[in-house]
Amino acid sequence: MDIYQKSLKFHEDNKGKIEIKSKVEVNNADDLSLAYSPGVAEPCRAIAEDKDNAFRYTAKGNMIAVVSSGTAVLGLGNIGPDAAMPVMEGKAVLFKKFAGVDAVPLCLGTTDKEEIVNIVKNLEPSFAGINLEDIAAPDCFYIEEKLKEETEMAIFHDDQHGTAIVILAGLLNATKLFDKKLSNSKIVINGAGASATATVKLLLQAGVSEDNLVVCDSKGIINSDRGDLNPAKEELAKITNSANLDGGLAKAVNKADIFIGLSVGNVLSKDMVNIMNQDPIIFALANPDPEIAPELAKEAGVSIIATGRSDYPNQINNVLAFPGVMKGALIVRAKDINSEMKMAAARAIAGLIQEPDNERIVPGPFEKGVAKAVAISVAEAAMETGVARIKKSREELEKELAEV
Ligand code: NAP
Ligand code: MG
Repeated sequence: MDIYQKSLKFHEDNKGKIEIKSKVEVNNADDLSLAYSPGVAEPCRAIAEDKDNAFRYTAKGNMIAVVSSGTAVLGLGNIGPDAAMPVMEGKAVLFKKFAGVDAVPLCLGTTDKEEIVNIVKNLEPSFAGINLEDIAAPDCFYIEEKLKEETEMAIFHDDQHGTAIVILAGLLNATKLFDKKLSNSKIVINGAGASATATVKLLLQAGVSEDNLVVCDSKGIINSDRGDLNPAKEELAKITNSANLDGGLAKAVNKADIFIGLSVGNVLSKDMVNIMNQDPIIFALANPDPEIAPELAKEAGVSIIATGRSDYPNQINNVLAFPGVMKGALIVRAKDINSEMKMAAARAIAGLIQEPDNERIVPGPFEKGVAKAVAISVAEAAMETGVARIKKSREELEKELAEV
């Protein structure tokens, strides 16, 4: 049986991958009156008085929804919300496994962005956080932005920010190896969708200059003279490519130090690598086929290549980020996941590698302690930037995260 047939049987045998479990026993009338009526009225009254008491008396504080409209599912595209469900269940499994976060998959039967915002913002009584997942660009930008504005939940679109965080972590370590500085490296990002847009913003925040950042989409370099850009790409044109270059990828990569591929397979040729600066760093992250095969990149003299794949070194895997980011936000009851928290997550991931080498710029997905380190840094950044509802000391955070 191949992996697909095996997986089909695995899903059928388990009837999906998650269930709800009770933390308490209900075996007799006393238990019943404690967990349910009449006793339950007292926590209800406490929450009616102050809704933040929900964090104290219910599961809300560790509960998130994984919300999708099914419009950009894995590499499968717009397969709809019903078909997206196995992915969202899987995401819930990973949240629990890696960070002890309880996650409920919610696939929505609408693709209307206003309707999605409206549904999700009205979930706030039940959830402390929302992981948006597999919602296509450009609507994903609007939906996330609106939800951040209109709710006090920890909102995180993993396809954007999880990717951006792990890329930044990898770049922080990769640049050390060549004595390059991220802040004066010339960077080309191929792709201008969900993941690329968030990566641009995080890199700028990390000190990359807009003079040194060029983004390409399927039509070529994004610049302010192009008449075909949607509003999200118009914004990219404003914050990158200050020299207003135009042309294709071959033009963009000329004398670049770093290539980040968030597009499609096999679009970066050896010839293009050869016109990059010495010791180019290549993150070819398109799945399942990278923008350039690692073998080919090696032939062109590249010594540091990262991909999205588990069968090569330096896997840029979002699982290094999203469980710890969400846990870190939840543990201090954060009202937002802001850019400082994302930066803190990237630094924490990079910092886990004591001595980076060409084949080890980020931890592997199953290394212990990643989510914990990320959660602590994210929680501290949330407290420092004033979005945490409660304060916790380093010792308290360590203690609460002992199991993670
Ligand atoms: P997306 O929102 O659909 O964006 C895809 C982008 O790729 C679009 O901007 C598209 O251009 C562009 N594109 C398509 N063909 C291109 C070409 N020949 N040259 C340049 N750009 C091209 O998708 P996404 O979620 O950002 O993901 C993009 C890719 O990155 C996927 O392959 C995904 O698997 C991979 N990815 C990997 C990781 C990881 O490894 N951790 C994480 C996230 C994403 P137009 O806008 O012109 O259509
Ligand atoms: Mg996804």
